[in-house]
Amino acid sequence: MLKELIDKFYLDKHKNREQQRFYITDAGRCPRAIFFKFKNVPREEMEANVLRMFDHGDSIHQLIMKPLFSMREVHVVAGEVNIPSHEMISGRADAILSDGKELIVLDIKSMNSMVFRNLAQPKEENIDQIQLYMHYFKIQKGILLYVNKDNQTLKEFIIDYDKIRACALLESLSELKKEIDSDIVPIRIPGYPNDWQCQYCSFKEVCAMANGEEINWQDFKKKIEKVV
Ligand code: SF4
Repeated sequence: MLKELIDKFYLDKHKNREQQRFYITDAGRCPRAIFFKFKNVPREEMEANVLRMFDHGDSIHQLIMKPLFSMREVHVVAGEVNIPSHEMISGRADAILSDGKELIVLDIKSMNSMVFRNLAQPKEENIDQIQLYMHYFKIQKGILLYVNKDNQTLKEFIIDYDKIRACALLESLSELKKEIDSDIVPIRIPGYPNDWQCQYCSFKEVCAMANGEEINWQDFKKKIEKVV
């Protein structure tokens, strides 16, 4: 009885919702998948246990933050900080820290042992996200802190603000917004279908119904409606 109720709680909480603004986590991600989210295209539902794993990730973040609040070497200026209000994009950094000399954006990521073991460099998509946090907070330094969910070991990478990279990301989001507003489905990412984003994409079945080029959304929508 409880199992069904708990599963239902998670599935209801994550029912498809139309996206109105970009999230910072969209930075560097497949434009076509983001387009489909904005247009509320039906997607593969995530299993309740996967959704619980996301919640587990949030608890790991809290666990990491706990010692930071009692340290002398660094102090937490603010936890869970929203970027300044913006019409196109929203996002929340895990924390802004100070080491007494400068401010640092902290972004915590959790992953399983296998991914953690092979992580020699920070993931590109995580660098993209922290670049945007640094950009909006006007902070020059960031730390990507990776947590192994299975044994709680840590790896950290210091990231310097790169204005060119941050502006290029914002420019690509702004281009995507124009495509969304003018109903043009963006091209597929070059690595389709083997790219990790395609492997985990909730829209892969819908994406496969089109070719890889830009297409008119209104025409494509009719095609989807016939089969969904
Ligand atoms: S399957 Fe790949 S190319 Fe298609 S929408 Fe998903 S991530 Fe993008």
